[in-house]
Amino acid sequence: MPELPEVETVRRGLEPVMEGARFDRVEARRPDLRRPFPENFVRRLEGRTVAGLGRRAKYLLADLSSGEVLLMHLGMSGSFRVATGADEAMPGRFHHERSQERAHDHVVFHMSSGARITFNDPRRFGLMLLIPRSELAEHPLMRAVGPEPLGNEFSAEVLAQACAGKATSLKAAISDQKVVAGLGNIYVCEALHRAHLSPKRKASTLAARTGRPTERTGPLVAAIKAVLSEAIAAGGSSLRDHRRTDGELGYFQHNFRVYDREGERCPTPRCSGTIRRIVQAGRSTFFCPVCQR
Ligand SMILES: [Zn+2]
Repeated sequence: MPELPEVETVRRGLEPVMEGARFDRVEARRPDLRRPFPENFVRRLEGRTVAGLGRRAKYLLADLSSGEVLLMHLGMSGSFRVATGADEAMPGRFHHERSQERAHDHVVFHMSSGARITFNDPRRFGLMLLIPRSELAEHPLMRAVGPEPLGNEFSAEVLAQACAGKATSLKAAISDQKVVAGLGNIYVCEALHRAHLSPKRKASTLAARTGRPTERTGPLVAAIKAVLSEAIAAGGSSLRDHRRTDGELGYFQHNFRVYDREGERCPTPRCSGTIRRIVQAGRSTFFCPVCQR
């Protein structure tokens, strides 16, 4: 699954060719991805202009002049390619290789900006829906999503309230999309290491008896914002000079301090610990048992 920073770098790559541009022609080359395309999908897009391209959690949201929103999700293996003239580029940097096989090109947007935007998705867990703008907030996919981690709405107070009384582990709590949106396994591990908090600690220890934040809560919120912002900045800066011709491993992994580093020395200054891997709720957790308490 792409994580939030990957989706945000995709958004930034698509924004210049989609925003303010019209769908001149749309090709849907099969009836469905994870779900069927909406009824009259092509007709509801063609001739419409994209007023803005936003993101909520890992969903891309294109605001259309028709009053509908085109919601797009990359699923497990989805990616976009942008062609302008003879040049073709793939916005975003991915931890896992992305397919460019033409057989998996399922949707093509021919934009009035001159760009051809192709959605490729071999495993077809991706998603494209059309939702009236006025109903977006109450849509089942959006309603359950918690605060955006990089927004002001995600604060120590909000995290403490969400964790108060929770007997689950800290890792489970901040992996919960209702607690904070779009945080996946990689950045949960990274943020907990940076905040020196054990993934096994009880989530309830982020809240005092009164429900107010403890001294641990603010630093964890800051760590979550920092790891995501740095990953977006790394992806964004790599995007500009990048012309991708074949599959590749993502750029972000070079910045990981604990993720996928089992057995390596802990990078915390003056820490003598070794990174360990444990399994929580079926997913690998990487952490340092010495400086994460
Ligand atoms: Zn350590």
